[in-house]
Amino acid sequence: MPQAEIAHGALPVLRTMLLQWYEAARRDLPWRQTSDPYAIWVSEIMLQQTRVAVVIDRYRAFLERFPTIRALAEAPEQDVLALWSGLGYYRRARMLHKAAQFVVEHGDGMLPTTAEELRTLPGIGAYTAAAISSIVHNERVAVVDGNVERVLCRLQGWSASRRSGGTTLRKKVEALATVLVDPARPGDFNQAMMELGATVCLPRNPQCMLCPLVAMCDTKGEHATAPRPRMLSEEVGRCLSVRLRPNSKVATREVLLEQRPATESVMPGLWELPLLHEADFLERDLCMTVRHAIMQVNYYVRVRNVPERKVNSLTVQNGERKWVALGLAGEMALTGLTRKILQRAHLIGVRASNVSSSKEKEIVKN
Ligand code: SF4
Repeated sequence: MPQAEIAHGALPVLRTMLLQWYEAARRDLPWRQTSDPYAIWVSEIMLQQTRVAVVIDRYRAFLERFPTIRALAEAPEQDVLALWSGLGYYRRARMLHKAAQFVVEHGDGMLPTTAEELRTLPGIGAYTAAAISSIVHNERVAVVDGNVERVLCRLQGWSASRRSGGTTLRKKVEALATVLVDPARPGDFNQAMMELGATVCLPRNPQCMLCPLVAMCDTKGEHATAPRPRMLSEEVGRCLSVRLRPNSKVATREVLLEQRPATESVMPGLWELPLLHEADFLERDLCMTVRHAIMQVNYYVRVRNVPERKVNSLTVQNGERKWVALGLAGEMALTGLTRKILQRAHLIGVRASNVSSSKEKEIVKN
């Protein structure tokens, strides 16, 4: 086990400085106004890979619709996915839903209290388990996310370059975090460390002059990190077909959507615009081009207006299709890309919180 490299004498000072700073500087976030383990669990899952500004309204809407574990467990999966739409990484929503059902079935609706027990639930890993148990139950376990790792690397002068070995470095960081965590206030300490990384010890241009730990930091600035993989780019085409509802006295517009098959490894069950055979078509048919980043690929999505009679010949059908009234489409479990296209076309409204996460896990080709 790698040894922590902070002198024992410095520990109480570090904890005190950090906690005092946290009390004065912490952001007033909705999940910090509750001690409900379910609400904190939801927030921790939403915050993985997604920015706080995007999460806030989605978190409130989710808890309004599913105020208890039991309400979540009893909801249809499509409703859960619809509430998750815009946050990306839909596997998180499915696992949250499954875990809620498990807890209702086997735990009478009560979440376990220790990190070790929490980790047995679907979708709860070391990070989430430690966050819930330390924040809600004051269990002395360290939370290590990307923010904490960055702060600790910089404090210790550790490089995160490829040569330093990612696994070895991670073990050193976890060992150090375990030593540092304040035994009296582990939940506050963990949140303070994450808050420092999120607001002061930023990946670029860390605000060292505002940092409560500057006196004990070996780096005082950016540290060496592994080079980012180069982004690839790919062009694909999507079909936007809108019709007036046939045989209706009231003029209702409908859009054609296709459901991703349940066997898809990415976003099964979500609804999207059909895929075009070709992304190469006449400019007059082009409706818009949307850039959508997924992992290391920038997709340039060319969207074509297609009349209903041409849909079958121009598109690849992979799943069930249906015409959906535009007034209802926005409430469905849409892929992030489809929601983005429909919003840009002013066919559905923009959710207040639906600022696309740049890391949104989405797929635009089959
Ligand atoms: S002094 Fe700067 S680099 Fe060091 S922990 Fe604080 S913000 Fe990060």
